[in-house]
Amino acid sequence: MIEIADLHRWFGSVHAVRGVGFEIPAGQVVGLLGPNGAGKTTTLRMLTGIIRPQKGSIRIAGVDAIAEPTKSRRGFGYLPESAPSYPEMSVSGFLRYRSQVLGVPRGSRKSQIAKAMEECQLGSVAKRRIGQLSKGYRQRVALASALLHDPKVLILDEPTNGLDPTQIREARSLIGDLAQDRTVLVSSHILPEIERTCERVIIIGAGKVLADGTPDELCRQNTGGGCIAECKGHGAKISTTLAELFPGTEVSTTPLEGGWWRVEVRTSDANDPCEQVGAALGSARIQIRQLRPTVAGLEDVFVRVLDESAGAEA
Ligand code: ATP
Repeated sequence: MIEIADLHRWFGSVHAVRGVGFEIPAGQVVGLLGPNGAGKTTTLRMLTGIIRPQKGSIRIAGVDAIAEPTKSRRGFGYLPESAPSYPEMSVSGFLRYRSQVLGVPRGSRKSQIAKAMEECQLGSVAKRRIGQLSKGYRQRVALASALLHDPKVLILDEPTNGLDPTQIREARSLIGDLAQDRTVLVSSHILPEIERTCERVIIIGAGKVLADGTPDELCRQNTGGGCIAECKGHGAKISTTLAELFPGTEVSTTPLEGGWWRVEVRTSDANDPCEQVGAALGSARIQIRQLRPTVAGLEDVFVRVLDESAGAEA
């Protein structure tokens, strides 16, 4: 549904997007995750035809978005990072105006506006001026205006930016509903945002795709290189035993109840050290009640891929 390849964009000497490429099949909900300045907005602005890439290709719903931007725009709805506001217009007046701009056929405008208002739960504020609404409601109006031509693809740039915690929860739930029968690409620098809403995560840093997969896949790929054991004995003895047997590893011990210790071993390579650690503890006659590989969370993955990329650039 969305296919982009080798996208590049410079702003003067700043190489903001450096060969970004990915494909999103129909129906998938994908999060574009990256720190501030990573190139998320620039990528989305190229996708939506607001700025042109200097290199690369973009197809949305089968349309070449660089060669035919007007045709391509009919295929998606876009929520920009800072949604344009028309404070003097009423919600319904604004949506009427937007439906004309988007070229929604006259005969279906009324029903499309009603459908978008219902999806974004705007019925109660239809006659209110946009300038009088809370930020959360203004965001819903912007979202409704992106739905008026009934697009099957939604591109959302930082949709919860500036909202309070209640509004964020509501916005997330709304996006979840909208994603039921659409392909969605949503950008954010807030990890829980992406973790809760998206089935696939593309991590972008310094203008490049650094990781791409389901949260589970990314966590599994970044797991290994460590294990956690629960052992009985003296923390210091356990620590010394392991450090002697595995030079180069980091061992930390935390006391638990009844003489048990939580022992975390981090090796310098990415292999799962459980078997060797288990054998070493066994031969030192240290009792073990649990032993498992360290499983990375998405936050660990995020930090790790950004660190690796910064290390590679240095
Ligand atoms: P944020 O989460 O802060 O919005 P982002 O990941 O969306 O960050 P971009 O806004 O795409 O990042 O910016 C990527 C880089 O390109 C940054 O270094 C930014 O300063 C630069 N940049 C973006 N737009 C312009 C512009 N119009 N002129 C000059 N530099 C720009």
